[in-house]
Amino acid sequence: MALRGMYKDSIKSLTLDIIQEYIREMGWTKPEQIIIDLREIYEIVLYPRYECQLITDMDLGDHEDRKVLGKFVGKDRVVLVDKSISPPARDARFTFTLGHEFGHAVLHPGGHRLFRCNNRDIFSARGIDLREIQANIFSENLIMPDWIVLKKFQHSFQLSRPIRYIGPGRYCLCAHGVDRYFKIKSYADLCHAVSGLMVRHFSNISKQSMSYKVQNLGIVVNCTHENYDPVVPRPGNVFESVLV
Ligand SMILES: [Zn+2]
Repeated sequence: MALRGMYKDSIKSLTLDIIQEYIREMGWTKPEQIIIDLREIYEIVLYPRYECQLITDMDLGDHEDRKVLGKFVGKDRVVLVDKSISPPARDARFTFTLGHEFGHAVLHPGGHRLFRCNNRDIFSARGIDLREIQANIFSENLIMPDWIVLKKFQHSFQLSRPIRYIGPGRYCLCAHGVDRYFKIKSYADLCHAVSGLMVRHFSNISKQSMSYKVQNLGIVVNCTHENYDPVVPRPGNVFESVLV
């Protein structure tokens, strides 16, 4: 298990290195300038480093009775995302699928490798295939790096402390200098509201994905005894138990 834990850390430091190069190349020096755009990261860092081609206008069909959403072909070094979820479709699954396939291209590049990834491989919290879990760790850390999420929160909300959930009620959230009022029914509701004010700094991701991050990083803390029912079971939940 220790070896697996180290591998998780090495994936995280690899994505950190990629993001830092992206920020350097973009010439950004302040947190407020940073926009995590996966297509830009591909053009600026991933393609020059790993020389993988990207195709997003094909129907990838089914494999073992499941719709293939993403594919990596090692011998051709090609990353493919199914056209049903690719732009112009406004499907938030595109970003995670793309990040996941980039994960295979970077972490599992052998010429004989072929990955045909379905919904369960990319989005389920119950994955058991280590390479699929590794690709998900790569994707999550590339798309929503913890340190950038925290910096974006601190800058957007001008806060150096968490937002506290103290029960249902009307909450005022001040982001980017504007006060907004929300009728909040639960802890998950407050995480969702905070996430809605942060997602624009990142690639096309859902508020649900950001909600998971906001909760996991302690940006919104639950000061009640209310049970937290995660908005969506992001893979990160299982990474912690499987790989640490
Ligand atoms: Zn996969």
